[in-house]
Amino acid sequence: MSKDNDLKPDEIRKIIWGLSVRRSRLAKKLYTPSQMIEGCIHKIYKKCGNPKCYCKDGKKHGPYWALSKKTGGKTKIAYISDTGTIKKAFAYKKYNKDLARLRKVNEKIFYWLRIIRDKNTSVYEK
Ligand SMILES: [Zn+2]
Repeated sequence: MSKDNDLKPDEIRKIIWGLSVRRSRLAKKLYTPSQMIEGCIHKIYKKCGNPKCYCKDGKKHGPYWALSKKTGGKTKIAYISDTGTIKKAFAYKKYNKDLARLRKVNEKIFYWLRIIRDKNTSVYEK
């Protein structure tokens, strides 16, 4: 982006500093995770199959929590009910989200560092 190239080195350093603060905050959280359970947590609503039940045409039963996990190309789903397990599944989801955030912050830092590099680099000419 040409607009980013127009920024002054001090402005770029300020941006990188801000990103670094975000990165260390994220990393600190990631260093000490709580206990987690692998899988993808879903909220599920179901019909029970009873033709006289309200769920036949209307509101379904639920929500129920379920954990899905891919193993060997197949997705397995397990219903979970205890809050401890649900909490651990959410912690796993959150951890992965924070990992993705960390990657994005790193990419931004790299982006700005490359701009600084290019600003300070000239072509060698004999
Ligand atoms: Zn029903």
